[in-house]
Amino acid sequence: MLYKTFKGGIHLQTNKATDKKKIKPLPLPERVVIPVSQHTGKPSTPIVKLGDKVKTGQKIAEAEGFVSVPQHSSISGEVKEIAHYPHPVLGRDALSIVIESDGKDKWIKRKKHDYTKLARSEIVEIIKNGGIVGLGGAAFPTHVKLSPPKEKPIDTLILNGAECEPYLTVDHRTMLERTEDIIKGAKIIMKVLECDRCIIAIESNKKDAIEKFKNLIKDERIEVFTLKVKYPQGEERQIIKACLKREVPSGGLPMDVGVVVQNVGTVCAIYDAVHRDIPLLERSLTISGSGIKEPQNVKVRIGTILKNVIDNCGGYADGVGKIIMGGPLMGIAQYTDEVPILKATSGIIVQTEDEVSIEEEQPCIRCSRCVDVCPMRLLPCEIANYAEHHNFDKCEELDIMDCKECGSCSFVCPAKRNIAHLVKFAKNEIMSKM
Ligand code: SF4
Ligand code: SF4
Repeated sequence: MLYKTFKGGIHLQTNKATDKKKIKPLPLPERVVIPVSQHTGKPSTPIVKLGDKVKTGQKIAEAEGFVSVPQHSSISGEVKEIAHYPHPVLGRDALSIVIESDGKDKWIKRKKHDYTKLARSEIVEIIKNGGIVGLGGAAFPTHVKLSPPKEKPIDTLILNGAECEPYLTVDHRTMLERTEDIIKGAKIIMKVLECDRCIIAIESNKKDAIEKFKNLIKDERIEVFTLKVKYPQGEERQIIKACLKREVPSGGLPMDVGVVVQNVGTVCAIYDAVHRDIPLLERSLTISGSGIKEPQNVKVRIGTILKNVIDNCGGYADGVGKIIMGGPLMGIAQYTDEVPILKATSGIIVQTEDEVSIEEEQPCIRCSRCVDVCPMRLLPCEIANYAEHHNFDKCEELDIMDCKECGSCSFVCPAKRNIAHLVKFAKNEIMSKM
């Protein structure tokens, strides 16, 4: 059978050892650390002070402008500190609100909405107030994605159920355990975008999820597409290319080709906010890798400390080599396990020392494998070469800003060149001067 896909990319060992493990809610944490910056855009501003008593779901930091989202307390208790704490994505300390639990999990008052009776702008406002961001990893504020300008009408919504990174299975489990909520969430988004087509795109190694959606969808506007198992199939541009054969222009956005892509977990968060008036307080994620005693899928309150999550999964196995937040290719290695789980944390992968091999880099042998696999059709070897010599103008000429940091180039390089690292470094240098 020919499945839909894109040009380039790589085939990886999927290691989806936890795909049969139901998402297990972990006990309430005694303390949460909630950074004011967990999203793309401006950090939010704290609106609580030391000693304040807060309830679960209470807003504790307000959005700063349009491309920003508020933060909410994920437990009830007392504000103990507003200080700088290690941040797992920024790689430095960042302003965070620390809340100590009273063990009662007392919630704010909530009221259910009937989305069919709400105006589109009211739904977008609920989503913004719910602090919802893309849960697939990018953490882009969802209300911004759902507010395309009039001159860019959207004809297709794609629900991203590819989950192409090895080890991660939380999207797969979410699709199996919250199938109906995802379908209802899709209808909410379609109303907001005024679009009449929704594609649920799932890789072919999740046959049970594909079947479940096909059995439950009773709306002819929604269909399921089966994608080839290939990395990075879940990247927005690649999933659009695979499903619709449309090419997002260099420097452009999916809305330039009439598409909005939402991760399936984000769709659940939208459903929770709009139907149940629950802001984004919890996060389901995969805990896996040889360095974990009991790999599984768990649901935790946002701000729970990574080490507490590991302890609830049987602890570390012997010889921990590397802790990665996110998938093994696009995730970020952590220097401490005292970092909080963020809204966009899709997984924690722990590798053992044996798995973390540091091979010596050799000179480029001009084999062009990195060019063949680059899903963005870039010249990774050339860009890396210019990046190494700090020639950032040349990097820009070679469209470096289109790089998705997928790591495919480094993965296939026989000379073990750390191409993706060099590209990322050059991108950061260029952005710092913008
Ligand atoms: S250059 Fe960027 S997009 Fe292309 S393979 Fe490397 S990391 Fe991926
Ligand atoms: S894959 Fe490595 S060795 Fe081959 S061209 Fe790219 S950088 Fe050079």
